Amino acid sequence: MKIVVKVGTSTLAHATGRLNIRRVEELVKVLADLKNAGHRIILVTSGAIGMGVGKLNLPGRPADMPTKQAAAAVGQCELMYTYDQLFSQYGHTVAQILLTAQDVQFPERRHNFENVMGRLLELGALPVINENDAVSTDEVGVSTTIGENDTLSAIVAGCVGADLLVILSDIDGLYTADPRKDESAALIPVVEAITPEVEALAGGTGSALGSGGMATKLKAARLVMEQGCDMVIANGRDPDVLYDIAAGRAVGTRFVGRKDA
Ligand code: GLU
Repeated sequence: MKIVVKVGTSTLAHATGRLNIRRVEELVKVLADLKNAGHRIILVTSGAIGMGVGKLNLPGRPADMPTKQAAAAVGQCELMYTYDQLFSQYGHTVAQILLTAQDVQFPERRHNFENVMGRLLELGALPVINENDAVSTDEVGVSTTIGENDTLSAIVAGCVGADLLVILSDIDGLYTADPRKDESAALIPVVEAITPEVEALAGGTGSALGSGGMATKLKAARLVMEQGCDMVIANGRDPDVLYDIAAGRAVGTRFVGRKDA
């Protein structure tokens, strides 16, 4: 299978913004193993800003754009250095691609992206993708950013024709209510269609260092389901769940791609 895995900042970093070493080591080990088993893996990773915050000893996620850009520039190096080192231990080669919204909005540029992705996978490399946060900023009245990696991962899944998109987050999946506030909230294992009822379940939650929340995950689900690709939201606390997810076993919430797509 061609699998796009998206990891959020809350999975990769501690609340301090510093790398969660044990978690990242485990994640890389599982991804390397799934690749050894014959799957083609694409990693969409957040964490550039979060890790830059840690490395620059900033008090929290920056509010102003230039500091955010600076944090991303510093943190992206740290991220790639870490992935490169860890994947190398298992004999895998990583490739970094940083995208802006325009790279996927204009057909010609999108085509270039699809070409390089295809070639990287043919060459056996493991593409690691993030938004180019150091330069992609919104001008007044002009939206040039994708803004969060749930949507980015769905766009990437579409460009590479993925079979499966896995979004690893700090929540187990989609619930009938907010499990942080409501004890009776139950996990929804399978979603066949994004109905208004399903949409109503998405609160605007997010963590202190990352962005996104359930609403952006549903947007991502809608994008990939239309293309016949399944999407799973699962907790990134234990990256071993990726084995079960790749095997089609019930973990988190699975959004089923349209069979006639
Ligand atoms: N691109 C951002 C980063 O690397 C993350 C966006 C998101 O959290 O979805 O920090």
